[in-house]
Amino acid sequence: MKKVIVIGGGFAGLSSAAFLANSGYKVELIEASPKLGGRTYSFKDDETGPVIDNGQHILMGCYKETLRFLTLIGAEKNFHFQERLKVNFLNEKGKLFRLEATQLFYPLNLFFGLLNFEALSFIDRLRLLKFFFKLYFYSDEELKRLTVYQWLLIEGQNEEIRKAFWDFLAIGALNTNTKKASAKVFADILKEIFFKGNEAATIVLPAKGLTESYCNDAQSFIEKKSGTINLSEPVLDFEIEDTKVTKVITSKRAISDFDYVISSVPWFALEKFYKDEDINLNFEHSSILTFHIWLKENTKSHSVPTLSGSGSPLSKKMLKQVQHDKLQEDFYGLISSPIHWIFNHNDHITLVTSDANDLIDKTKEELFEMAAVELKKYAGIEKEEIKSYKVIKEKRATFVPDNKTIDKRPNTKTKIKNLFLAGDWVNTGLPSTIESAVKSGRMAVKEIDIL
Ligand SMILES: Cc1cc2nc3c(=O)[nH]c(=O)nc-3n(C[C@H](O)[C@H](O)[C@H](O)COP(=O)(O)OP(=O)(O)OC[C@H]3O[C@@H](n4cnc5c(N)ncnc54)[C@H](O)[C@@H]3O)c2cc1C
Repeated sequence: MKKVIVIGGGFAGLSSAAFLANSGYKVELIEASPKLGGRTYSFKDDETGPVIDNGQHILMGCYKETLRFLTLIGAEKNFHFQERLKVNFLNEKGKLFRLEATQLFYPLNLFFGLLNFEALSFIDRLRLLKFFFKLYFYSDEELKRLTVYQWLLIEGQNEEIRKAFWDFLAIGALNTNTKKASAKVFADILKEIFFKGNEAATIVLPAKGLTESYCNDAQSFIEKKSGTINLSEPVLDFEIEDTKVTKVITSKRAISDFDYVISSVPWFALEKFYKDEDINLNFEHSSILTFHIWLKENTKSHSVPTLSGSGSPLSKKMLKQVQHDKLQEDFYGLISSPIHWIFNHNDHITLVTSDANDLIDKTKEELFEMAAVELKKYAGIEKEEIKSYKVIKEKRATFVPDNKTIDKRPNTKTKIKNLFLAGDWVNTGLPSTIESAVKSGRMAVKEIDIL
């Protein structure tokens, strides 16, 4: 039985280990930190009490490789799947708009969903649709010369359309300002989301903490298939002879009984144990801020006071209930706010700011003050209604998918014959996402399989 060492226990490492174990390889996964999950995990917060995620993660129906992995390990039950696309938006006056695929068949359901999106004027909705119709008219070479922002301008996407639609999609999916992000990468994901069937455009959310959603099932699956997982054991070095890794040296031992090695560590961690001047590690990173906020009252369980028939002005308490009622949906995009999303888990809400490099150095108190102002504006939630909060800064959340970088992403195969690279940053064509991580894991497994 061939043995594979997998370095790193994020989505890329766990998925490659699971696919390999399922195909009959002996797998040993080695993870530096005391936990699995990499950049996608949850933990019990001693300060505030409950289990929380390091950051809210959104998956999509078009995450085919990820969904295949979750199904393999039996974890798809831990996710909530939309039947059809539905995204709620709030503007700064707290007005709610829905972008929702209709009941018609695909692609008419998406077409009319966009046509009904009232956050935009009717003429802007037509401009938006025109953009989609022209998507396939651009060649890859043309798109590689443009940023997302330049492309949107060429296609007459004015500020209103950018703010209420494109910024969400582009900044959410690429975690990068549209003035930096590559139009090519963006075009590719638009094709995946909107042109691959009804399910591709739907949102998939973890129904539990992230570690419980997939890490535990992945670990059980790998171990049931006779694989082993070793935590708190950073890989420090390789010994290489005749273009083959012969020893993997960790903080605890030197391992030599293996056939192949997959490195699934991020770009900023590889050179600690493997140096290759041909592999570009010069990726700019982009941050994400997550605000966990606990409210004194459970927002989802508020009853909706009816205005009709009462004949009297609403009491202050009832007014508050009307405002809170806005948070009955699972999640909202905030139009023109430094906070991009609110996710609603009853009395616990999570706020997300993507592309947060400009804010990351502010103090947690300053950031909370900013979030509290936005919550009041958009959702009518007063600061006094907040019981506690926690701000999580993920500085190196993703890499920046700009036009300089996309052609310099390394391939899975390296010049070392038994060493393969995985991780969201290798050349998958996708931005820095879970799907890119899992796709890279599958690519590494396929390379080993054909040897
Ligand atoms: C806050 C936040 C929000 C995000 N939101 C989304 C989202 O909504 N949707 C989405 O698709 N993506 C999102 N992402 C991106 C997504 O989390 C990553 O793309 C994905 O998790 C990367 O997985 P990976 O396995 O490639 O790398 P990682 O998750 O970074 O895993 C690499 C692992 O390697 C380990 N390692 C490093 N060095 C060594 C060593 N020397 N020896 C052994 N082990 C080592 C690390 O400890 C780590 O566990 C988000 C990221 C963050 C941080």
